[in-house]
Amino acid sequence: MKTVLITGASRGIGRAIAKKLAELNYRIIINYNNSEEEALALQNEIRKLNVDALAVKADISKLEEVKKLFKTVEEKFNGVDILINNAGISKISLFQDLPPSEFQEIFNINVFGIYNTIHCALPYMLKKHDGVILNISSIWGSNGASCEVAYSATKGAVDSLTKSLAVELAPSNIRVNAIAPGVVNTDMMRCYSNEDLQLICNEIPMLRLADPREIAELAAYIISEKNSYMTGQIIGLTGGMCV
Ligand code: NAP
Repeated sequence: MKTVLITGASRGIGRAIAKKLAELNYRIIINYNNSEEEALALQNEIRKLNVDALAVKADISKLEEVKKLFKTVEEKFNGVDILINNAGISKISLFQDLPPSEFQEIFNINVFGIYNTIHCALPYMLKKHDGVILNISSIWGSNGASCEVAYSATKGAVDSLTKSLAVELAPSNIRVNAIAPGVVNTDMMRCYSNEDLQLICNEIPMLRLADPREIAELAAYIISEKNSYMTGQIIGLTGGMCV
């Protein structure tokens, strides 16, 4: 049984991926930061399927907390086979209004967080000469988005990291890919009014937001052993937007 660590699995896309992979009999490490209740509820839900699950708190932007997370995982399950870097935040603001502290914060979580988790996961993967890393990026990593400059810049960094790391790790039999969703119906979108959400939907050729379960289906395919030759790819899932 493969062990998969999903960051930010307490809510939204991460939660949907955790549930999908539990159905497929992966052992699930549910990382969370603030949403303890949701993470523990998910842990119990997965255990009811007779699948191993463990909720572990760690702010991924802090290397010391990520090291502790991996220590717990090592003690319990002997390390990880698959890492899904899903945790992330967005900030909606005009570039000129965004203070340096907030620009720094979004990079700390969306980019340095991924550095921290990969840095801790790689020793296990290199030792086994086997591993999979999947990053959840965004379509705004490669397309311009007004009022999301900082967010777009972090996802652009995730895309570049994904491609370069894939090349570096391919000889070690470690695949690195990313999913670039368009707009997904999660708490991240709660900053918009229903009226604004309708306007956003009107811009999407499929005229609706993605369901987090649709991202989870693609994640399950990308990490699967059947998909053994795909690496360095940023796969868009946008309902036809930005194609
Ligand atoms: P969400 O519903 O807001 O959930 C965010 C998740 O990230 C939560 O589980 C949260 O955990 C976790 N998280 C945030 N900061 C963290 C930290 N410092 N350490 C550990 N966990 C942290 O967001 P979502 O929509 O599911 O987004 C998931 C990923 O998809 C993000 O990378 C996002 O950029 C990307 N994405 C989203 C959309 C969209 O339209 N929703 C589109 C494209 C890409 P706690 O609640 O426990 O703190």
